[in-house]
Amino acid sequence: MDFNLTDDQQAFRQAACAFAAKAMAPEAARWDIDHVFPVDVIREAGAMGFCGIYTPEAQGGMGLSRMDTSVIVEELARACPSTAAFITIHNMATWMVALFGTESVKDTIAPRMASGEWLGSYCLTEPGAGSDAGNLRTKAVRDGEGYRISGSKVFISGAGETQVLVVMARTGAQDSGAKGVSAFVLPADSDGIHYGKNEEKMGWHSQPTRQITFDNVYVPSGNRLGDEGDGFRIAMKGLDGGRLNIATCSLGGAQAALLRARDYMHERSQFGQSLAGFQALQFKLADMATNLVAARQMVRLAAFRLDQGDAEATLHCAMAKRFATDACFEVCNEALQLHGGYGYIREYPLERYLRDLRVHQILEGTNEIMRLIIARRVLEAGVAEAIQ
Ligand SMILES: Cc1cc2nc3c(=O)[nH]c(=O)nc-3n(C[C@H](O)[C@H](O)[C@H](O)COP(=O)(O)OP(=O)(O)OC[C@H]3O[C@@H](n4cnc5c(N)ncnc54)[C@H](O)[C@@H]3O)c2cc1C
Repeated sequence: MDFNLTDDQQAFRQAACAFAAKAMAPEAARWDIDHVFPVDVIREAGAMGFCGIYTPEAQGGMGLSRMDTSVIVEELARACPSTAAFITIHNMATWMVALFGTESVKDTIAPRMASGEWLGSYCLTEPGAGSDAGNLRTKAVRDGEGYRISGSKVFISGAGETQVLVVMARTGAQDSGAKGVSAFVLPADSDGIHYGKNEEKMGWHSQPTRQITFDNVYVPSGNRLGDEGDGFRIAMKGLDGGRLNIATCSLGGAQAALLRARDYMHERSQFGQSLAGFQALQFKLADMATNLVAARQMVRLAAFRLDQGDAEATLHCAMAKRFATDACFEVCNEALQLHGGYGYIREYPLERYLRDLRVHQILEGTNEIMRLIIARRVLEAGVAEAIQ
């Protein structure tokens, strides 16, 4: 068992770190305050290969593993968790199109997404179907050589500013549940698509979030991903990786916050000594570092399992997402606390990291839903090896 990063992974990490330090870190606070969606920087990331990190090379991606992806994404997230998170959602959508699209879709849409020329949104959640996504109501009804899609999606990241939508819609009866869901890819400006206002959020200000309404939107059959009824399975496959990506964005944010707190403890003096001299605060820092490293190891173990095609990959992705997003949020919270009042003001980045990481406990499946997935499996017989 070798826990070291390979030479290639170290090179990816250095490239991502240099890119993030130059193109993202100096602007992240401004993007947050002014609610700027930095499309040009995301496209620059695309030129580095970061818009199709695990998309196969044949479709214009880098064809890297989930472990490599995690190494890269953590560096981007150290600079700006919100922008890195959008890049990962785009990566997930790109991978789905590249893997499950028809040959024509693979040749035409996937490479333009992998390069970052076209950005993508992932449309699963509905007003009445969040955690219970398998119960979604958006319909895709057969119409000649295609389908007509009608319904609403909410909380869609990037919506209104992306060029491609990956949409889950019901082709079967409502009572067929998840089995009646199909996946489609369509141009984001198709006739009949309407966008709601940009939601005012606690964090993730560097990316828009909108409701999308589909009013009898035509999509050719060739734009279906997989077979009819495969959509939910495809959506969940995408989310295994998506959960690792979001967990990794938490790692990056927590790493940055921890190092800031460490520096501040050396800089700041009270009662005639630096904060670093107080053992209570040293212990706090020790716990933060310990929890962060534990979270990173869980993410990398889950990435390894996913790369291996392990039957328990979903379980491990859920455990890593639950643990890392909770632990890293706490690291940011403690880093803010270590800054005292300065942690609470915008001149310092701690409150931004805290706000950005909070939503990671909610999306790509809430952490309660992660517990549901984990508990279901742990309650089954024959689980011992899965958690060893
Ligand atoms: C900023 C942001 C960006 C997002 N981006 C996207 C996107 O790009 N694409 C997309 O499709 N979705 C996106 N989402 C939606 C996100 O995935 C959902 O908000 C999430 O899945 C939860 O759904 P819900 O909000 O409807 O909450 P609900 O499902 O209504 O849950 C409410 C509460 O009940 C809990 N709960 C629900 N069911 C159970 C249960 N069985 N057992 C125990 N507890 C339960 C939940 O954990 C939660 O605490 C985004 C959300 C946000 C906030």
